[in-house]
Amino acid sequence: MGMPDIVGGCLCGSVRYNSDAQPVMTALCHCPDCQKQTSSAFAPLIAVPKESLHLEGQDLASYETVGESGQSVTRRFCPGCGTGVVSYVAATPDLQWIKAGTLDDASWYEPEMHIWTSTAQAWVPIDESVPTFEKNPPLSP
Ligand SMILES: [Zn+2]
Ligand SMILES: [Zn+2]
Repeated sequence: MGMPDIVGGCLCGSVRYNSDAQPVMTALCHCPDCQKQTSSAFAPLIAVPKESLHLEGQDLASYETVGESGQSVTRRFCPGCGTGVVSYVAATPDLQWIKAGTLDDASWYEPEMHIWTSTAQAWVPIDESVPTFEKNPPLSP
């Protein structure tokens, strides 16, 4: 991965963000909740240190579920256009999970792993050259 430019926003432009940190990790999440929330086959995620993410503009709306960990997953989205922008996962309290589809320039993005492959849609090819996990990957402490 090259020097990433983590700058983006929602479809209508009311929400903008940037992070000056290096990504902690990138992953494609094939879980059923991400499929529903992105209305797509998977969510392309970028984890950044929590404090490095700077949001500007419209306040995000949010929707909370309980993840497999038993802890909350809060998906945050633009109330104007519905774009899912970032998620906060209580099981990873030091991180924010940006949706890479909102990057202005995603040319640097490379998924380092596929997670929740057990519920991947049948037509989606899984890159076996990177780590894959049937559900959540083990969290490093
Ligand atoms: Zn918007
Ligand atoms: Zn997911």
